[in-house]
Amino acid sequence: MNPPAPIRDGLLDGVSVARAVRASLRDHVSREMPDDSPGLAVVLLTADLAARKYAESKARACRDLGMTCTLHDLTPWVSNMRALGKRLESIASDPRVHGLLIEHPLPPHVDPIALYAHVPTAKDVEGISYANMGRLMLGRPYMVASTAAAVIRILEHYGVQIAGRRVVVVGRSNIVGKPVAALLLARDATVVTCHSKTPDLATETLRADILVVSVGRARFIGATHVREGAVVVDVGINFEGGRMVGDVDFEAVRGKVLAITPVPGGVGPVTAAMLLSNLVQTALAQKRGSETL
Ligand code: NAP
Repeated sequence: MNPPAPIRDGLLDGVSVARAVRASLRDHVSREMPDDSPGLAVVLLTADLAARKYAESKARACRDLGMTCTLHDLTPWVSNMRALGKRLESIASDPRVHGLLIEHPLPPHVDPIALYAHVPTAKDVEGISYANMGRLMLGRPYMVASTAAAVIRILEHYGVQIAGRRVVVVGRSNIVGKPVAALLLARDATVVTCHSKTPDLATETLRADILVVSVGRARFIGATHVREGAVVVDVGINFEGGRMVGDVDFEAVRGKVLAITPVPGGVGPVTAAMLLSNLVQTALAQKRGSETL
C-alpha cells in the first residue's frame, strides 16, 4: 500500500486516484495475463443515448489497458424476459468474457436483480448478484459494486481515517448506498444510512465525520447539512442546463469542510477504474480456476 496522498485545496481529486488504479492494473495485467487479456461484455437494454455513451467509454477504457470489450445490444429481447435471460447466459458462457455488466439506465419494467440470476457470479463485475451481495454482508466480499469500491478507494488514497468515525450515507440503492455502508462498517466506522423517509436529514448529516451522498438530486446537500471539518464524498451525477453537478452544493459546502470530491472529477473516474479492477480480478480468478463462488 502506497503512503496516503496529500489533500490539496480541500479536494479529493478522483482523476489522480483513477490514474493510480489504472497504472497498477496495467502492470498487473501485463505481468499476470500477457497472452490472455481480460474481456468485458457490456449489455445494452435501451436505445438511451447516455447508456450507449457510457458503454462506449467503458470500451475505450478497456482498450487503453489492453483489455477487450464487446457491446451487445439486447433491446430486441427486453419484452421477453425468458429470451433475454437466455441471451445473457449465452454471452456469459463465452470463455473470452471474464465479466459482464448491464448498462444503466434500464427499461422501467426490467428488474436488474432478476437479470443477474442469469449471469454467473464469477462474472458479475457489478457485484449485484445474490452471492456477491451476500458475501459482502457476511464480511467476505468478492466482487463489490464499483461505485461503492470507488468511495472507499478515494478515502484510503487520501488517508482519511474510517475506523471509529461516524459516517452518514445518504441513499440506500443496491449499487451505492447499501454496499458502501457495508464496506464502511467492515472498516469499523459507525454507519448511519439515510433515505427518503428519514425524518430530519440535516440532524443526521450534521453529525457526520464523513458524509457520503448518493441521491440523484442536484445540489441537494447544502452548507446547513454539513459539519465544519467533515469529509464529503459526492456520488451524484446530475445535469443542470447541460452542466454536470453533484448531489452536494459544491461551492456552498467547500469552504466549510476539510475535503470534498468535485463533480465532475471525483467519484466518476474512480468508479470507471474500479470496474476495470473488478474485471482484472475476475479474469485472474477464472484463469487460475480459483474463484470460490
Ligand atoms: P437511486 O437508486 O435513485 O437511489 C436514490 C436514493 O436516494 C434512494 O435510497 C432514496 O431513498 C434516496 N433519496 C431520495 N430522496 C431523498 C431525500 N429527500 N432524502 C434522503 N434520501 C433520499 O440512486 P443511486 O443509483 O444510488 O444513484 C444516485 C446518484 O448517483 C445518481 O445521480 C446517479 O447518477 C449517481 N451515480 C453516480 C455514479 C458515479 O460513478 N459517480 C455511480 C452510480 C450512480 P429511498 O430508498 O427511500 O427511495
